[in-house]
Amino acid sequence: MQLYRNFTLCFLFFLLLAKVSQAQPVFKVIPLGVKGGTDESNLSSYMLAPIHSDNYVCLDAGTLNFGLQQAVKNGTLKGFAGTILKNNVKGYLISHPHLDHVAGLIINSPDDSPKNIYALPFCIDVLKTHYFTWKNWANFANEGDQPTLKKYHYTALDTAKETTLDNTEMTVKPFLLSHSKPYQSTAFLIRSKDDYLLYLGDTGADEMEHAQNLYRLWQAVAPLINSNKLKAIFVETSFPDEQPTKQLFGHLTPSLLMKELDVLGKMTDAKSLKQVYIVITHMKPSAEQVEEKIRKELETQNKLNLKLVFPQQGKLLLF
Ligand SMILES: [Zn+2]
Ligand SMILES: [Zn+2]
Repeated sequence: MQLYRNFTLCFLFFLLLAKVSQAQPVFKVIPLGVKGGTDESNLSSYMLAPIHSDNYVCLDAGTLNFGLQQAVKNGTLKGFAGTILKNNVKGYLISHPHLDHVAGLIINSPDDSPKNIYALPFCIDVLKTHYFTWKNWANFANEGDQPTLKKYHYTALDTAKETTLDNTEMTVKPFLLSHSKPYQSTAFLIRSKDDYLLYLGDTGADEMEHAQNLYRLWQAVAPLINSNKLKAIFVETSFPDEQPTKQLFGHLTPSLLMKELDVLGKMTDAKSLKQVYIVITHMKPSAEQVEEKIRKELETQNKLNLKLVFPQQGKLLLF
């Protein structure tokens, strides 16, 4: 009887320990911009670092300075926006070269510090030939139109391997996404020690894109979910369900996202998937109340009871 009691106590203790260790956040994210259009002061960009580090990268760079100002105002960050950008943002990961993902990077480049721009070759190509050229801006990068000012160093990612993010404690592995065929976008799987965070740039659903990009991505991350190593998935929902299929332009709606997460659900065990935060990005505020509509549609269709998160500019998120 005593042995049984000891055993039970021990078991309860381990359960408690497991719960406590699960609750410990390992990543911090400061959204500098969360929307997918219209509001030029709040476009996709997420500052990410391991919880005990101040060496961040930015996942996309639609809005930088205004987001940093908001984060300082909220007490999420301390100091001057421009100085934080120079000192604490160690690199940019750009999912695809649409303006709402790079505008902040271009506008802030004259006052920025030297750092790497990480992207797949298709994306670096557009930055090189359409943005950092002397025709429309100064060429602050290290390749392309001469003379090159060499402040930014293009670092081409490779879908077959993990790349170290310089001056941070993180690495990245990229995955190709389909964003209105034939246009492409990128998902970044970030690793810090043995913990992971997944950020998807703009993406269409596999059924709409006639592609298997998301299916392959889900296959790659399913084992990380089942072992509780993947803490959060950042994924877009640009339009409400009423958006006509012909006008999706390579984006997701609540029902398309939920269908994709169902596919992921079939590859993972339900309990583990429920531990992963699903962060909804890139809503397009094209009309009044659109964001509220998207949010309601997601919540009513959340049959898997996933932990949905709706990020706000400058407000700290812990995962
Ligand atoms: Zn976008
Ligand atoms: Zn886009």
